[in-house]
Amino acid sequence: MTTTEAAAISSLSLSGPGSGVNPRLARVRARAAARESIRAMRPAARAKRRRRTPGELRAVVERGQAQLNACGDTPEANAQAVIAWAVREFGPYMAVASSMQDTVLSHLVAEQFPFVDVLFGDTGYHFAETLGTRGAVEIELDVNVVDVRPELSVAEQDAKYGPKLHDRDPEACCAMRKVAPMKKALENYEAWATGVRRSETAARANAPLVSWDERNGVVKINPIAAWTDDEVADYAARHGLVVNPLLADGYPSVGCEPCTARPLPGEDARSGRWAGLDKDECGLHV
Ligand code: SF4
Repeated sequence: MTTTEAAAISSLSLSGPGSGVNPRLARVRARAAARESIRAMRPAARAKRRRRTPGELRAVVERGQAQLNACGDTPEANAQAVIAWAVREFGPYMAVASSMQDTVLSHLVAEQFPFVDVLFGDTGYHFAETLGTRGAVEIELDVNVVDVRPELSVAEQDAKYGPKLHDRDPEACCAMRKVAPMKKALENYEAWATGVRRSETAARANAPLVSWDERNGVVKINPIAAWTDDEVADYAARHGLVVNPLLADGYPSVGCEPCTARPLPGEDARSGRWAGLDKDECGLHV
């Protein structure tokens, strides 16, 4: 973080009791002003060095794995240590991906790198609660939310491919509305941090802390790979974080509205995603 960015962030504490304005409202306004300043400064911060080549970034991955992975009696690094390494390595060339299911990873990264870009895949098919969570995140957290949108609106997609493509060909729908837009957005970065956790699905059981993401041409960081559902919930409660209200309404895993149902009793948490289909990933992570 540059000294100018640090000055913008210190303005967060300038408004408070005694200013005649509700302290919470004052803080929200100060946060919005700091966000705007930093948003304007980030291109210059990135311009100080070029984006590294895939070969250079692969070497960074190797160094990161040597530092952060378990080795002998040394356990793997915790989430804060992984993020500290990533901030040192990538700075303004790092983004966080968020589905707005919870805000734990965004908060963890913002604590060490305020106003980090948080990429939200705005597919056009989200629940109102998810869009509400996205709005609340900008008010409550020191982050810069970037809406990552598909090339086609839902209406344009319907006109070109027919309505409800998600029912007929969810792979194609996810590819157009989630995977391709995120790949394009990541062209601006060297690394992305995701909330992928090993306990979520069999395909994620061996998710590494740091890896080379061949499809997107960036480094992929999974700081909370080892966290359980309870650890995520505990962290959110301890820090008073915004959580998507659908989690308390029977949806333990939240995606697009047409493709997300409440799991049946006894079924696993992600069984409500693309329920009845042989699909449990959108393609962003596996
Ligand atoms: S989750 Fe469903 S609606 Fe969302 S992009 Fe994938 S197929 Fe389309």
